[in-house]
Amino acid sequence: MTCEDPKCAIHGGLKTRGAEFTGKIVSAKAKKTAIVERDYTRYIYKYERYLRKRSRIPAHNPECIGAKEGDMVKIAESRKLSKTKNFVITAVVKKEE
Ligand SMILES: [Zn+2]
Repeated sequence: MTCEDPKCAIHGGLKTRGAEFTGKIVSAKAKKTAIVERDYTRYIYKYERYLRKRSRIPAHNPECIGAKEGDMVKIAESRKLSKTKNFVITAVVKKEE
């Protein structure tokens, strides 16, 4: 499949650097954008317990990847792509059944 997206990490000129996460897409309504939700734990020393946290990261969803809602995806940090996006989806880990 040909991909003309300049903001594609594989076919375009976009370089990734910094953080890499795996998360689940909770919304893929906007064109070429997906909201990736990530669960993680943070250790709180005072209470010697883990705090469960959740973050939502808007990521660029190139046409060649075309990830859908429910998919597990890998995202990588990149330059600022729009007002809210500075992550790009690099691979689909698991498709939703
Ligand atoms: Zn591409």
